[in-house]
Amino acid sequence: MMHLTAYRGRHVVVLGLARSGVAAAKLFHSFGADVVVNDKKERELCPEADELTALGISVVCGGHPDGLVTRETALLVKNPGIPYTSEPIIVANRLGVEVVSEVEVAGHLSPAPIIGITGSNGKTTTTTLTGVLLEAAGLKPIVAGNIGRPLCEAAQEIAADGWLVAELSSFQLKGTSDFKPHIACLLNLAETHLDYHGTMADYVGSKAKMFENQTSDDVAIYNEDDETCRRLAREFRGRHLPFSLTRSLPQGVIVEPPYLDIRPSEDEAVIDRWIVYRNEEGSEERILSVDELGIPGRHNVANALAAIAISIAAGAELHKLSQPLRDFRGVEHRLEYVGTFNGVKFYNDSKATNPMASTMSILSLPSPLILIAGGLDRGSDYMELLPVFRERVSGLVSLGQTREKLGLVASLAGLTRVKIVEPVDDAELTLRRAVEEAAALAEPGDTILLSPACASWDMFSSYEARGRIFKQSAHTL
Ligand code: ADP
Repeated sequence: MMHLTAYRGRHVVVLGLARSGVAAAKLFHSFGADVVVNDKKERELCPEADELTALGISVVCGGHPDGLVTRETALLVKNPGIPYTSEPIIVANRLGVEVVSEVEVAGHLSPAPIIGITGSNGKTTTTTLTGVLLEAAGLKPIVAGNIGRPLCEAAQEIAADGWLVAELSSFQLKGTSDFKPHIACLLNLAETHLDYHGTMADYVGSKAKMFENQTSDDVAIYNEDDETCRRLAREFRGRHLPFSLTRSLPQGVIVEPPYLDIRPSEDEAVIDRWIVYRNEEGSEERILSVDELGIPGRHNVANALAAIAISIAAGAELHKLSQPLRDFRGVEHRLEYVGTFNGVKFYNDSKATNPMASTMSILSLPSPLILIAGGLDRGSDYMELLPVFRERVSGLVSLGQTREKLGLVASLAGLTRVKIVEPVDDAELTLRRAVEEAAALAEPGDTILLSPACASWDMFSSYEARGRIFKQSAHTL
């Protein structure tokens, strides 16, 4: 897209009235564009509309009117969640109107360099931790993007000597063209969001867009343990800074001695492991011991390695990183300890919305483990869970659209303690029943983990709502 000043007096359509749409609409309006915001929801369900109308921005709710996008439209800014099969986008594509996400807009606006963080799992944890580390190092970060705050809002606030730390989803990245983070980090790639992207190639391609405009002055951080990341990295033009749990790389952020596998295994020797930065000359510095990290689980060691690599690339002094790494306790709904009730420990991992995420969480907790899982069926391969069900799960309570599919995996894994919870009208009651069933299966000393491996939208408005109900149910057993 062009610089924002080029849209003065021109027609810009903002599709979707969520927070990012509101931020984009206000921004283009402030640059003098003729903005129309459109959402297919009815006006009563769009409370944000009033604020925009008061500013003189035209808002059309309740459907996509004919003539919304015309040859005169200079740009269409779409909410990342809206599929590319939506009518106004089809029209825009036919008329050659550029379609972008609000992230592209932020890229044109930010006076500060951008740090982009993406991957299938671990984005929010790594982004939050990166913000904490950069703050501790005095590098003035603002954290935004997929994590909650619209990126273009933060881009207007950040000073040139700060860092705009952006959590980016594949949906957001698909709508970019010139976007160029100075530091780009790819955490991992698993099969997910196929309902939106259609194919794995489209999903991976969207993630890879974050690296496409980088030059040798930029830094490309990636997970050396992930085969797809490694393969994509061959094309990255930015200076490579890999991280790894399992390889003693000549350069990068690593664990010494390395783990045998990214997944914990029973036969792994208990030895002191250190997080180490090895620079381009091969000299190395220890940052802290893995056991000192404040967040549990091997996947979180990987997230910490990524956040450390980003901080190093941004110029943080290493000695300023160890204390905040000890203090950081993670983010709500991500392997969150809820409490111990009747001798059973409860963990809320409602944000685990695909099989890879749940696998890593299951492996992070001690067995015997009773798992509560299931939710929206996005066509993921739930058989991926078979090995961890065999090794680590002693009981399963399944609910939601995927309840039967997960029940099948459990029976193939030879589990005998399996309960499939049939839905009742009220989703809250269904989840409460699942918690009661899990509590009935558990014995003192066991762990109950909600890690659904699925999104929540078949039953709940969000994974946060699901996590909160789980926590309340555990507290009121
Ligand atoms: P995202 O923002 O990408 O969804 P989060 O940091 O919110 O990631 O973590 C969501 C869930 O994904 C966690 O609860 C955990 O189950 C899993 N997870 C987190 N980090 C990783 C990782 N590096 N590899 C695999 N799974 C992970």
